[in-house]
Amino acid sequence: MEAAHLERTIESPIAFSGIGLHSGAPVKMRLLPAPAGSGIVFRRTDLDNFEIAATGRNVAKVSYATSLMRQGVLISTTEHLLSALVGMGIDNVTVELDNLELPILDGSASPYIEAFARVGIKSQRRRREYLRILKSIEVREGNKFIAIYPGEGFSISYNIHFPAPIGCQAFTVDLAAGCYGTQIAAARTFGFREDEKKLRDMGLIRGVSPENAIILCKDGVQNGPLRFSDEFVRHKVLDLIGDLALAGHHILGRVVAERAGHAMHTALVYRLLRDRSAWQMVHFPAPKRNAAPATAPRLVAAELGSLS
Ligand SMILES: [Zn+2]
Repeated sequence: MEAAHLERTIESPIAFSGIGLHSGAPVKMRLLPAPAGSGIVFRRTDLDNFEIAATGRNVAKVSYATSLMRQGVLISTTEHLLSALVGMGIDNVTVELDNLELPILDGSASPYIEAFARVGIKSQRRRREYLRILKSIEVREGNKFIAIYPGEGFSISYNIHFPAPIGCQAFTVDLAAGCYGTQIAAARTFGFREDEKKLRDMGLIRGVSPENAIILCKDGVQNGPLRFSDEFVRHKVLDLIGDLALAGHHILGRVVAERAGHAMHTALVYRLLRDRSAWQMVHFPAPKRNAAPATAPRLVAAELGSLS
């Protein structure tokens, strides 16, 4: 069996600490190796180890970040960590944290990638199941658009249109090519100075600083230099990868997004999981014709009833 198609976890625990971008709350976080088949599960150590799995049924409806909620317990701003895990092909990890929001770190996924490299990633004795896209699903809202199409590998094309100095940027990446670490991970989150007061008054960016976000004004970047000339669209790709992780499985398909954001990303996940004719679970490479059919996806199927 090719190791590339086995589930993976980290070799040993990793500790992080920092503050939440939105809450400004201090948080300690630990990533722990987890058994094959367990997926990504968050655990609030400050709330009797209450657990919330990173799956579509637990998505909380907020627009500025992707958060999970179960029985009123919140885990906020999960997208950068989930992106790093998917991008590096890590299936099973327990994420302990002692507050409600993940640390923003430097605003990118680089600290995660560096930590994974430090401790190592190991294959487990279980074949990875992929969610293979069988038909197109398109979500449109005004001039925002996101869609997923059948395709080999897992590719993402993103177009953004922002006021100056960002303007229009486009980026396409095929994650199956293994380029997450070099092309996506380092791209940081960003915000406009003119929105700052409003967002601060709303309590949405209590933790923001020039150390964890690119700050923009009309004339340009206030805390340069950029890590890529098109860092903004690369960060949108990073966010999208993290949000699509809530499908609960690695995806075989092609995603196209234009002017989208977290709400559109998670709307696509909802639509996808609800339409049972749009995908099938497969092992990779695809089974031969006389082989047993791919098993029904227990996890995803169980979630369908609770999606709204
Ligand atoms: Zn982000």
